[in-house]
Amino acid sequence: MNIHVLKFGGTSMNDHQTWKQVLDIISKYEYPVVVVSATARTTRQLIEAGQLAADGNLEKALVIGESIKLRHLGILHTFLKKNPHPKRPLIEESCEQKLDQKIGLLFKLLTYTHKAGELTPPMKDAIASIGEQISSYLLAQCGLAVDQLTQFIDAKKIIKTDAEYGHANPNRALINQKAGSLETILDSGFTPIIGGFYGEAPDGTTATLGFEGSDYSASLIGGALHAQAIEIWTDVSGIYTSDPRFIDDAKPIQELSYFDATEMAYFGAKVLHPSTLKPAQERNIPVFVKNMFKPDNSGTRIIRESDHSREVLAMSFKEDMVLLTVSAYETVMGYSFLTKVFSALEKLRLPVDAVNTTEASVTIALSNSEKLDTLSKELIEVGTVTFEQQKGLISLIGCTISEMDQLTNKVLDSMGSEEVNMITFTKEKRILSFVVNQNKLVETAQRIHTGLF
Ligand code: ASP
Ligand code: MG
Repeated sequence: MNIHVLKFGGTSMNDHQTWKQVLDIISKYEYPVVVVSATARTTRQLIEAGQLAADGNLEKALVIGESIKLRHLGILHTFLKKNPHPKRPLIEESCEQKLDQKIGLLFKLLTYTHKAGELTPPMKDAIASIGEQISSYLLAQCGLAVDQLTQFIDAKKIIKTDAEYGHANPNRALINQKAGSLETILDSGFTPIIGGFYGEAPDGTTATLGFEGSDYSASLIGGALHAQAIEIWTDVSGIYTSDPRFIDDAKPIQELSYFDATEMAYFGAKVLHPSTLKPAQERNIPVFVKNMFKPDNSGTRIIRESDHSREVLAMSFKEDMVLLTVSAYETVMGYSFLTKVFSALEKLRLPVDAVNTTEASVTIALSNSEKLDTLSKELIEVGTVTFEQQKGLISLIGCTISEMDQLTNKVLDSMGSEEVNMITFTKEKRILSFVVNQNKLVETAQRIHTGLF
């Protein structure tokens, strides 16, 4: 069976027109399995409502719930009007019932949260997943209105997870087993439509896979089904050399290895959920990132080995960084000094972006945070602490070590060397990072990008 798992994100699920486009794309495949996100903005609004309820503002939370309902009704009714079908009354009725049921559930969960005075992780997941529960059901029904044999499948039947609410870990063995039912559906000529992002914890409650988790759902299902390909359909033409919102000449990368694409998911381009590529890589399934609005663009293809003849693949940058330097009071054994510094960071859950160290001092690039005062108190026993604020981090991803000197020179040539505070390189990860002054960050990034790509 030539199965393609197709995932459509929030912007693809934005309105009746994009729903039709999604259905058109699906219709071109022989055996598609479809994973969808919530409609644009919905997940964010649901979480906001949950938080408002917990903070004592139930009324406002319910208003958000109501607006989510109205928005979906609007999309549904327009879709059915533009795509007339004899079964319309039936389809409409079943969708309205489902919507009532899900929004009713939302109201119940919000009221409970309000009473409890806190948004617990399981409750937050139950609330956040409602967007996908609704979008997958409605889209499957709308498929019937354009004579496509689409069938809603509740993700809880397939995506089995542990109980780490908010970033649940999939139970791969169980998912592999449950996904078999999708083949039966495909066999009978139907296209399963499944909500991404959520699944079921061992006790039957809802658990989510984390922010942007629908990509991960798609690849878990693709892996389980030994799919021919996993296609992530989004609103840009693939993974870019840099963020096209800021960098004029950023362009899609045609081909990437799983390794480099995973690095990029963590580092720069937030196009993919960072765990997405693992299930695909294990079974050597190619992953495509494609533009829903320009389906003929080739997008980015992610495979095991990519011809890596370029000196660098992509550039990411990040602002509002702080450089923390800790110098030991006396020359101590390097590891105990470093252990103390990193324990303090761990205690405050401050993630590190780049590090340079000598035996008795360490310089660390961190995202700016309100916890820096506390951090400096934690470190007072360890050494002298200084912070340099207003820094930016530019990272070049997928650098080949053989060309490192050339590459570094090119980068340094494109900015004043006085702009640079720190340079780090790791051969294993192939990431070359520069900490620079923030005031010229985007300008510098633009210049480096133009010089390199
Ligand atoms: N709707 C979820 C989110 O916004 C999951 C996804 O779209 O991938 O994070
Ligand atoms: Mg996404």
